[in-house]
Amino acid sequence: QKSANEFSLTDLPLRPDLRGRVPYGAPQIDAPVRLNTNENPYPPPSTLVEAMVSAVRSSTGELHRYPDRNATELRADLAAYLGHGLTAGHIWAANGSNEVLQQIMQAFGGLGRSAMGFDPSYSVHAIIAATSATEWISGARDDDFRLDPDKAVAAIEELRPDIVLLTSPNNPTGEVLDLEVIERLAAAATGMVVVDEAYFEFTRPGTPSALSLLASNPRLIVTRTLSKAFGMAGTRLGYLAAHPAVIEAMELVRLPYHLSAVTQAMARVALAHRDEVLSTVEAVCAERDATAAWLRGIGLEVLDSDANFLLFGRLPDRHAVWERLLWRGVLIREVGPPGWLRVTIGTAKEMATFRAELEDVLWSCV
Ligand code: PMP
Repeated sequence: QKSANEFSLTDLPLRPDLRGRVPYGAPQIDAPVRLNTNENPYPPPSTLVEAMVSAVRSSTGELHRYPDRNATELRADLAAYLGHGLTAGHIWAANGSNEVLQQIMQAFGGLGRSAMGFDPSYSVHAIIAATSATEWISGARDDDFRLDPDKAVAAIEELRPDIVLLTSPNNPTGEVLDLEVIERLAAAATGMVVVDEAYFEFTRPGTPSALSLLASNPRLIVTRTLSKAFGMAGTRLGYLAAHPAVIEAMELVRLPYHLSAVTQAMARVALAHRDEVLSTVEAVCAERDATAAWLRGIGLEVLDSDANFLLFGRLPDRHAVWERLLWRGVLIREVGPPGWLRVTIGTAKEMATFRAELEDVLWSCV
């Protein structure tokens, strides 16, 4: 028997398929300019803060009771926000869209089942597959990191995954999928099709959402979040829209009372203040397009993005660029294909710092 000092994870009877895995971790470093986790750079306006404080105050009197297990009022508010004829019965909410995705894998994946995504994409999809014992199938993208519909359909038809995960706009490439492509892939799939629309509010005006395909596709799920455009990443509220039968499936796997009364109250206030909160989106998108033009202007490649981040390259030593930016107080993300880096769009001031420091770094290290 080892002493407590010598004891480590390898000594525990951990599931064999979890051995050797490393935890997910975008570095949480307290840099002065944090452009690494695709949050909205604008803090909640003071009117929203006040409204949240009073909503929390009035919910605290009931904190000795469990919250509404079905989050009925919140789900009705989310349905009203989404439109498309959706009602509370089409909506499910949890602690971030990560938890929603986990519940989807618990219900439709699991041992002996598979999920397919198209990499590079949101790495957590594969992690949730692994922790829910779902086999992960990584479908490829084309040389420009775009989804190739013909290849994707062929892969789906050949491997018949139980879950197909699409991300639109895609993280980290920023590509938005045409509805016709989603329809083609959904027609080819025999299992569930998930469209992760975490960044949808940043798409160019007129971009259609996969929500419009729900009425004709009972096996389609669209996931969204309040973490990005809504600027509520700290609240942890994600949700999905789908056929009511999918909601019944979620009820089978969710923990009882998974969504705290405080979270529900905060999310409802954010939704009630949505015009004010979402008014920051325009500034973020303008800054995104200006930053893309600037990066191209200094000779870098930038992928067209419909989200609040940009993937730029090609850098002979991306790690050196990432690290030197961090030394100068600018934290971006070393993610995506080798030679590329991702920058989240911050405020105009933060982006001015990013531009100045990146230029300096590129002069000094490549
Ligand atoms: N989907 C995508 C594509 C994301 O990039 C993220 C966050 N990085 C999420 C889902 C999860 O967000 P949350 O759990 O905060 O809703």
